[in-house]
Amino acid sequence: ELDAAWADRWMRLSAAALSGNRQRLTTLDREIGDADHGENMERGFSAVVEKLDADGVPETPGAVFKTVAMTLMSKVGGAAGPLYGTAFLRASTAAGSASALGPAELVAVLTAARDGIVARGKAEPGDKTMIDAWTPAVDAAVTAEAAGSGPVEILTAAANAADAGLAGTEPLVARKGRASYLGERSAGHLDPGAASTALILQAAVSAAE
Ligand code: ADP
Ligand code: MG
Ligand code: MG
Repeated sequence: ELDAAWADRWMRLSAAALSGNRQRLTTLDREIGDADHGENMERGFSAVVEKLDADGVPETPGAVFKTVAMTLMSKVGGAAGPLYGTAFLRASTAAGSASALGPAELVAVLTAARDGIVARGKAEPGDKTMIDAWTPAVDAAVTAEAAGSGPVEILTAAANAADAGLAGTEPLVARKGRASYLGERSAGHLDPGAASTALILQAAVSAAE
């Protein structure tokens, strides 16, 4: 069930995955950015876990997402903090006061998160950003929900699509964020933010299993 305990597990598993992949994310960001994406994400999600520990688990998934949003916005500098912060803030609003998310609500939450990142960062698919992981993930979630899938299958479809989206960023030339300063030289590398998005969505699956 995608309740507050699931959202809490999701955030803790995200923190663990981002921490375990800190070096990999930073290496990716060294190639086309400023070598801080691993540190940024680890710092942000460690702060989220500390906040959840301090406050106790909120009563709804939406309340968990709100805590995540506020924490990421205040603790993560750089592009990723406000982008993920906006994603979780919109997710919180979409989740409302529901005590658990059904299939349609899950799709609404994922869609709202992606739309929040687009509203904040103005990236389009193909710009070599985290949107290239989020957009196929949302599309796959919509398709799975329309086919009558349950929450775990929808999350699995989304996470797998995010992985494929990440792989698809390699040949792209960056048109948003720091990597865009490199122009054509940004091609041939995976986008770090798409990599962190794939980890976070995979953590959502693990939290639901
Ligand atoms: P910074 O670039 O400020 O050091 P990070 O390294 O933490 O921030 O995050 C970089 C990631 O942020 C990129 O890999 C990309 O996925 C994402 N990103 C940057 N700008 C945008 C944008 N305008 N829209 C969506 N995602 C973006
Ligand atoms: Mg960076
Ligand atoms: Mg930076």
